[in-house]
Amino acid sequence: MKLARTVKEVKEQVREWKRQGLSVGLVPTMGYLHEGHQSLIKRAVTENDRVVVSVFVNPIQFAPNEDLETYPRDLEADCALCENTGAAMVFHPEAEEMYGDGFTTFVDMTGVTKELCGKSRPTHFRGVCTVVNKLFNIVTPDRAYFGQKDAQQLAVIRRMVRDLNMNLEVVGCPIIREADGLAKSSRNTYLSAEERKAALVLSRAVFAGEKMIRDGERDGEKVLAAMTAMIEAEPLARIDYVEMVKWDSIEICHQIDGPVLTAVAVYIGKTRLIDNFIAE
Ligand code: AMP
Repeated sequence: MKLARTVKEVKEQVREWKRQGLSVGLVPTMGYLHEGHQSLIKRAVTENDRVVVSVFVNPIQFAPNEDLETYPRDLEADCALCENTGAAMVFHPEAEEMYGDGFTTFVDMTGVTKELCGKSRPTHFRGVCTVVNKLFNIVTPDRAYFGQKDAQQLAVIRRMVRDLNMNLEVVGCPIIREADGLAKSSRNTYLSAEERKAALVLSRAVFAGEKMIRDGERDGEKVLAAMTAMIEAEPLARIDYVEMVKWDSIEICHQIDGPVLTAVAVYIGKTRLIDNFIAE
């Protein structure tokens, strides 16, 4: 497996693969890889001849008050996981490589970025769309893989690819959880033992809300009220949002009459965690 640090290296390698008629899959990540990321890489390896995993803590998707500096990093372990899972290349650029040379172009979206994380992190998706667009142009993948863990991000990228006529398929992959239900996340490492227990309130609320809809509840407000009450009962939890939106457009909805995304963002101590489910 090759570790590339420059755009030039990646482009040269991909050009060679394409010359040989090989298909290319891309898995964009911020590193500190776990089984959630690994599930995306595994899927990409089964569907493409060559897989590139990008490991880049993208500074422009963090607001000044967020955790850019403390975000966990372990390139050696990430490379080992990628190699063992069958990736052909890890792309790990420095911020200067991606945003040097007077960088001033950004991809800005409306609509799907308005609610949920777009509301509490107003510059977040501009940073995500810009870096993902760059990665698509650098790697020119046939397919790119994103987790439903970041469901709004998946919807945003799908929308961007459709709106801008990009030549690739976006593949969404299910949420991978710890045995006790907590969605796997690089940010789980921030949690103390006590907070780790409290964090289970997210998945408990998600499972309860999902069951209500599966059992026939059509009133979104009732589902959100039950989930909110569960989370508020946990003293270490502070709700950022508990919302229901239409899965395709990410518009707020109150009635379940098609696929809906129900998403939560909750601070456990200083750590902001997210979880969600899609149901209809
Ligand atoms: P990140 O490194 O957090 O930016 O995540 C990189 C990709 O992995 C994104 O598409 C995430 O949605 C996905 N991902 C992260 N955690 C999980 C998980 N627990 N299950 C499935 N996909 C995940």
